[in-house]
Amino acid sequence: MTLTASVDTTLTQISAGTAPGAACSPDLVEKPWVFDLRAPGYGPGSSMGDVIPAGSPRQGALPAFYREADAAELDRRILAAKEALGDRLVILGHFYQRDEVLAYADYVGDSFQLATAARERTDAEAIVFCGVHFMAETADLLSTDEQSVILPNLAAGCSMADMANIDQVEECWEQLAELYGTEPDADGRVPVIPVTYMNSSAALKGFCGRNGGIVCTSSNAQTVLEWAFERGQRVLFFPDQHLGRNTAKAMGVPLDLMPMWNPNKPLGGNDASALKDSRVILWHGFCSVHKRFTVDQIAKARTEFPGVRVIVHPECPMPVVDAADESGSTDYIRKAIEAAPAGSTFAIGTEINLVQRLAAEHPEHTIFCLDPVICPCSTMYRIHPGYLAWVLDALLGGEVLNQITVSDEVALPARIALERMLAARPPVPTGV
Ligand code: SF4
Repeated sequence: MTLTASVDTTLTQISAGTAPGAACSPDLVEKPWVFDLRAPGYGPGSSMGDVIPAGSPRQGALPAFYREADAAELDRRILAAKEALGDRLVILGHFYQRDEVLAYADYVGDSFQLATAARERTDAEAIVFCGVHFMAETADLLSTDEQSVILPNLAAGCSMADMANIDQVEECWEQLAELYGTEPDADGRVPVIPVTYMNSSAALKGFCGRNGGIVCTSSNAQTVLEWAFERGQRVLFFPDQHLGRNTAKAMGVPLDLMPMWNPNKPLGGNDASALKDSRVILWHGFCSVHKRFTVDQIAKARTEFPGVRVIVHPECPMPVVDAADESGSTDYIRKAIEAAPAGSTFAIGTEINLVQRLAAEHPEHTIFCLDPVICPCSTMYRIHPGYLAWVLDALLGGEVLNQITVSDEVALPARIALERMLAARPPVPTGV
C-alpha cells in the first residue's frame, strides 16, 4: 500500500474506517498528553512493549488551554511566536517526527545533522528540539552555554537509548578490566575500546570520552570501528546490537567473535574464553521500530513488486539487512530515492513518518514501508503541536520550559568522544 497523507491523518482514517490498513495500537489516535499522566511508559507505538526505566523524565500535565485548542489555534500561536522571536529561535525536527510538527521546523534531518545545525545557529538563544531526549542532549553538548535547548515533551525519550545506562556500562567495564587487564598489547592496542551509538545518553558519550572511546552514527559506524580497531584489540559496542553486528559483519568480523552482553548476567551471560576471543562485544539493546521489519516482509514485497529496491536501516536485525538490497542511514535512504530514475519502486525499512513523507515528496516513484502495520516511534509520537505552542508561548513570555542541560562533568568528556568521531576519517585507498 502506498500512502501519501500524513501518518496522523492516515491513523485517523483507519480508525474511522474510511481508509484501509491497520495500526499497531488504537491509542495512536489519542492525543499524546493522554499518556503524560498515566503510569510511566513509552506510550503507543513501536516501543509500547518495552520496559521504561524507573526515573525516566515525566512530562506532567500540559495546560488545558493547549490540550483543548484546535489545530488552527495552535498554528496561529506557533507562527506568531516564530515571527516574534525571529532569529532568537530555531526549531529542529527529526525525520521521524509527525508532519504536523515538522511543518514548523527550520531544519529537518537526522540526529547528527540537527545537532550540527544547533552548533551553527549560535545566534539562536533557544533551540527547540522536536526529536527525543538524547538528541536534545547532543544539541546541548554542541551549542554554546548561552543557548537553551528545549524538548517540548519530556516523555520523548528513546527506548533503545534507555537499554544501556551508565551504571550498567560502568559495571560491564569493571568486569572486562578484571578479565583483560588494562595493559596494551605489543602493537600498543588497549584491550577494549568503548563505542557508543549517537542514540545514547550523554552519560554514555561521556563514558566513552573518559575511556579512550568514541561515538558513531549510522552513517559512519564502519569508519568509527576502523578507528577503534587501530587502537584496541576489541570493541564494546552499545546500545544497539544490530548496528554493531551489521557493521562489523560487513567488515569481515565473524559472528562467533561477536558475543552479546546482557547487563543482567555475570560477564554479560558469556564465558570468559568467548570474551577473550571476541572482536566486538555487542550490548543487548535494539530499536523497537526497526525490530519490526522481517525477511518475510521483504519476500512479500519482491513477489508483489518484481524489481523492487529494498533499502533498510542498519538498526534492523541482521537477517533483514542481509535480505535487503541495501542498508543505510535515513540520509542514505533519502538520497537513494532522490537519485533514482523516475518510475522506481522502493520498499523501505525505517520509521513510517519518514517513509510516508518520502512517498508524498516523490510521486514519480512508488515508495512503501515494508511493515504493513502502521507503528510509529512511540517517543517521537509524544511531541505534538500542542507542546510546541506551549513552550513557544512561554519563551515569548521570557520563560524557558523543559530545558535539557548536560552537566559540565559529563559534557566535557562527551564532547571529546564526539570530536574523536568528527576527526575519524575513512582510510585513504591505496592503488587503483
Ligand atoms: S526510532 Fe528507535 S532509536 Fe530512534 S528514537 Fe525511536 S526508539 Fe529510539
